Amino acid sequence: MVEGPTAKAYAVKINREFIKEIIKEISTKSRKVYVPLDELLGKKFSKAETYGKNILLFFEEFAIRLHLMMFGAIHIYKLDAPLLKPERQVRLLIKGERKKLVVYNAPIVEIDRKRKLIEKLKNELGPDPLRQDWNREEAIRRIMKYKGEKIGVVLLDQSVIAGVGNILRNEILFKAKVNPERLVADLSKEEIEAIVKEVEELSKKFLELKLQGKRLRPILYVYNRYSKPCRICGNKIRFYMQEPIKRKTFVCENCQK
Ligand SMILES: [Zn+2]
Repeated sequence: MVEGPTAKAYAVKINREFIKEIIKEISTKSRKVYVPLDELLGKKFSKAETYGKNILLFFEEFAIRLHLMMFGAIHIYKLDAPLLKPERQVRLLIKGERKKLVVYNAPIVEIDRKRKLIEKLKNELGPDPLRQDWNREEAIRRIMKYKGEKIGVVLLDQSVIAGVGNILRNEILFKAKVNPERLVADLSKEEIEAIVKEVEELSKKFLELKLQGKRLRPILYVYNRYSKPCRICGNKIRFYMQEPIKRKTFVCENCQK
């Protein structure tokens, strides 16, 4: 699953490897193309950035939004190099002057004017801990709007905080010492602040590891550690599917009250 930090690491790589390429050829299987594709020919790639789990590629006044979900991948090859995955998995292909950018299996590929795409994402998504415009107070305010909901459910809602996926969610709640079943209304201000602080710190930590090409596993406290001893208290980690979202949930019931 691509979470905010994975998306951001992709953007960093694209900025490094595809910079200043000019579109010579573009094709996509997506239907979410809201401008004539021909208009993108000759446009120069300026940068990639992320908003939550979305990757945005900017080509002058146009933008392409990618969401990789579970199985999507972005590869950059030399122009004459063969594709590393089957042709039928290609969702977007952009040929530049020296390199080509290939997006495989991404469920969302959207092409539109830059201004419209950014506006749309800003309306859909909450603050993103990996963006310059991250706003801790706004994140707290948005969590508190869902008083009757479980904190474990609220944290995955991209309109509350953008970029938190299931691994981050489990680890954030462990570090903040909060049980995912607790209702937002029952959390103290300090607990919510601790959660938001961990959203920020863990997202940055995950990104740092991704950029170094390192695995997350060694730093995880609960995720995929079912029945293993808690690294803090030695209690066995419990695993269940949290309702109603039916997502894998790991908790140390001794540490997380
Ligand atoms: Zn514990």
